[in-house]
Amino acid sequence: MWQKYGQIFLIDNNISAKIVKATDLDLMDNILEIGPGRGILTKLMVSSVNFLTAIEIDKTLFQQLSDYFFLNKITNIELINQDFLRYNIPDIKRKFVSNLPYSVGTAIIQKILPLRNWTTAVFMLQKEVVERLVAKPGNKCYGYISAFTSYYADTEVLFDVSPKCFNPVPKVTSSVIRFKNKKANVPEPALFEFVKHTFSMRRKTILNCVSSFCDIPKDMVSDILKSCGLNAFLRPDSLSILDFLNLTKEIKNYRIYRAGF
Ligand code: SAH
Repeated sequence: MWQKYGQIFLIDNNISAKIVKATDLDLMDNILEIGPGRGILTKLMVSSVNFLTAIEIDKTLFQQLSDYFFLNKITNIELINQDFLRYNIPDIKRKFVSNLPYSVGTAIIQKILPLRNWTTAVFMLQKEVVERLVAKPGNKCYGYISAFTSYYADTEVLFDVSPKCFNPVPKVTSSVIRFKNKKANVPEPALFEFVKHTFSMRRKTILNCVSSFCDIPKDMVSDILKSCGLNAFLRPDSLSILDFLNLTKEIKNYRIYRAGF
């Protein structure tokens, strides 16, 4: 019955305490929690913060949790019965905390990281996804989501969590990861489109990736790669986000230059 929204409830109080500790709560903090479920993290955090907003998609869980906080006269909390992916996040300084619904974990991360005003996010996800989020160039797990994450955040893998700590028991091990906002500039509009394109052909050379992305003749692409200090025969998975950024800028410059003639 709980599988519809990927509901896997944490039942281990030591782990919930460790997650909350990793958030380094302060009485001034505004917290946004995604998918509070039965509230194991929510109940632990609410008395230590200024205000907690929790977005829960499931109506029954939302109502049970609303009743709990109402009956206990806890008022520095707002529960919202909505799909977080459709929720319009108000622009205030805040931290994020969540035992993420695993089916939409990376979609949620892609929604959160580009926001300006957050400071810290502590999330539990499948271990395998956490490995992809923090993978560095050259690692076999390195891909679009790794490059995306490294643009916006510094990351730290904190600890693993055994399937036994949940109900129902999931098939996979989980990991807790902490993100710190790097306050990166808004990227060139083409940056992530370009990164996505190159990883969709990750076995090809970067020369092929660039020329198929922007329809620039290969000899010009070679020059662009040289000016970025990149060997034309590298594969996309050896490029850091900085390399992608430089390339995107050079491609744009080349287009502006050509449009001028
Ligand atoms: N935080 C709880 C529950 C984790 S399970 C705990 O640690 O035990 C994930 C929770 O996210 C579930 O309560 C599920 O109903 C909720 N959820 C799933 N998809 C969601 C979405 N798109 N938006 C908001 N909540 C969602």
